[in-house]
Amino acid sequence: PTPDAPDYLQRLNPEQRMAIETTDGPLLVLAGAGTGKTRVLTTRFAHILLSGRARPYQILAVTFTNKAAREMRERIGTLLGEPVEGLWLGTFHALCARMLRRHAEYVGLGSGFTILDTDDQLRLLKQVIEPLRIDSKRWPPQGILGVIQRWKDRGLTPERVTPAEDCDFANGQCRAIYASYQARLVQLNACDFGDLMLHVTEILRTRPDVLAQYHRLFRYILVDEYQDTNTIQYLWLRLLAQREGQQANICCVGDDDQSIYSWRGAEVENILRFERDFPGAAIVRLERNYRSTAQILGAASGLIAHNDGRLGKTLRPGREDASGDKVRVASVWDSDDEARLVGEEVERLRAGGHRMSEIAILVRAGFQTRAFEERLIAIGLPYRVVGGLRFYERAEIRDALAYMRVLNQPADDLAFERIVNVPRRGIGAVAMQKFHQAARDGGMPLTAAIGGMLERGEIKGKARDSLAALLNTLQQGREDLPREGHVVVIDRLLEESGYIDMWKADTSVEAPGRLDNLKELVRALADFESLGHFLEHVALVMENEESAGTERLSIMTLHGAKGLEFDTVFLPGWEEGVFPSQRTLDEGGLKGLEEERRLAYVGITRARHRAIISHAASRRIYGNWQSAIPSRFIEELPDEYVTTTGAASQARSRSFGQAPAFSSAFPITARRPRAADAAGDATTSSAKAAMAVGTRVFHQKFGYGTVSSVEGNRLEVAFDKAGPKRLLDSFVEKAP
Ligand code: ATP
Ligand code: MG
Repeated sequence: PTPDAPDYLQRLNPEQRMAIETTDGPLLVLAGAGTGKTRVLTTRFAHILLSGRARPYQILAVTFTNKAAREMRERIGTLLGEPVEGLWLGTFHALCARMLRRHAEYVGLGSGFTILDTDDQLRLLKQVIEPLRIDSKRWPPQGILGVIQRWKDRGLTPERVTPAEDCDFANGQCRAIYASYQARLVQLNACDFGDLMLHVTEILRTRPDVLAQYHRLFRYILVDEYQDTNTIQYLWLRLLAQREGQQANICCVGDDDQSIYSWRGAEVENILRFERDFPGAAIVRLERNYRSTAQILGAASGLIAHNDGRLGKTLRPGREDASGDKVRVASVWDSDDEARLVGEEVERLRAGGHRMSEIAILVRAGFQTRAFEERLIAIGLPYRVVGGLRFYERAEIRDALAYMRVLNQPADDLAFERIVNVPRRGIGAVAMQKFHQAARDGGMPLTAAIGGMLERGEIKGKARDSLAALLNTLQQGREDLPREGHVVVIDRLLEESGYIDMWKADTSVEAPGRLDNLKELVRALADFESLGHFLEHVALVMENEESAGTERLSIMTLHGAKGLEFDTVFLPGWEEGVFPSQRTLDEGGLKGLEEERRLAYVGITRARHRAIISHAASRRIYGNWQSAIPSRFIEELPDEYVTTTGAASQARSRSFGQAPAFSSAFPITARRPRAADAAGDATTSSAKAAMAVGTRVFHQKFGYGTVSSVEGNRLEVAFDKAGPKRLLDSFVEKAP
């Protein structure tokens, strides 16, 4: 370190400093996990500002998640000693949403356009394909949406899709469907997620004046997780970076070993193209990993070495305390057992003073989270499902959002349809059809069409009064908005529309919780300067992950964990068919398998101090019990960095080394493959072994039930209300 270098450069290694101080011209940082790529990018941002090269708003910085954007904003604020405003810093989608608001008219949208979520997209697409009488069993709408999405990822507007590019799907009608779908979106003054990038890129391509404006604005471009950019993102970046007669000041950081989004169109090749597109590009490699212990690093490196065709990078431990615990591989009985193990280990860590926010459970697929959620709730540990967005997915929240959307934008037919009969307003399917007809005939939104019908006296009875009241309330709200502000107006809208009363009248056990959620929603509104801003925030957040509270354990997918780090990482479900996924195995290709392996590499390298991999001997997938074999990735971990607990390691099960915590969480007797057990094994005798088939039992949560099978201390119980469950006998008592 040079003594006279500014403070923020002092603690960096020479390669990192080079990557930061090479400010001008194209630069690619190609380096393994935890080598400080993101840190380099953040420091570079600060360095550009502090050295007076640009103002904050003249730097375009792209992160992979909203969470990463937030973290980067904070880190930059800390480096600069004050919070910075007006940054162009965010995900591709967030940045494009902002750009599109400024130029919406070029693609036929108003600047108040709505961003549709997946549900709405699907509903809209169904409307578009309905008249075509497409066999939806054979060609499910989701599939068609997927085709459209992939075209969008490749930067193809309907006009740019050539007939040759149309696929067999839906008998070659996808191109036509795509075109009508886009036209319909414009009519609704809406766009879907893919459109954010597509529209903006199209504008930059076709409007040199707009492009020039951004060329003047952005002096520097910074991109994190570059290996996962797809074609449209790449095109967008190239348009913005390549300026006539000038060097491109673009810095991208990435790791080919962490490319895990090819299923969403990401192209690792973008890394290789970098030098071609930006001649004279400097390439910096970082080799010291500052995140993980040497053991974790050794395990991860050994695993990824099984992939072919890597760009090849060296990765060395960079931390002083780099020894640490071995990676643990634990065999468990089934997913409940796995959840119990994780729960107990988390409790132990917590009791030992470890922070909950430094613990993560990283799953391969969404279905895995349920067991952990239930377990964590049962033992009262705070957690959040990152990326699961449970709050905004709840029905009452979606309804309330639909009300807000219609108020914000009367042309939002999809939202209007969701709420027109919620609460019941006496509107049947036939009436709805008439409204749709009138809207189509008049080329106007539903609200306008219904307004017209009301005026002409074409709606009768209860529906007339209730619709008039609804439209009136909405209109009144719009008028009150500038004067009274969105929080007051929305609060009143939910009351006056009868929506709140609907839940108040509901006697189900969930109703009070729903009312609380609605209150919370109105509270959240207050954090935004306008209704439009709030709705945009929700749309973006629903696509990405969102945080809440700090001291919570995180459950998320491996995909969502990219770029993040935790002290302790649990990696459950390492079984063939779960991870690597069944789909990958069915496809049978090497490419898919290598991507799964990269995902495993990403998973292990999230951990600073502890990585705990587990695999179950049997697993219920979509209702069926299957016996499972350990993931091939487990075998691929080099022995010297791994310690195994469970059936596979009975011999050394008593010498857990630095991991005594496991010995009690993990009675050896529990580790038997289900198959062997079913064959009549009875090694376990428990104090409660008196349970027999037919015994009536009581469980705290599930109530009364009858034992239907006994395997050692494991019971299957048919609960009267909760249905069949498998559990340990110690969790139930004999019914009196
Ligand atoms: P990933 O590939 O997972 O995204 P990355 O290359 O972006 O990883 P960072 O997240 O930037 O890596 O850094 C990993 C950790 O190492 C962070 O906690 C960071 O603060 C720390 N770190 C980076 N560089 C240094 C350094 N020179 N000295 C000490 N710690 C460092
Ligand atoms: Mg990173």
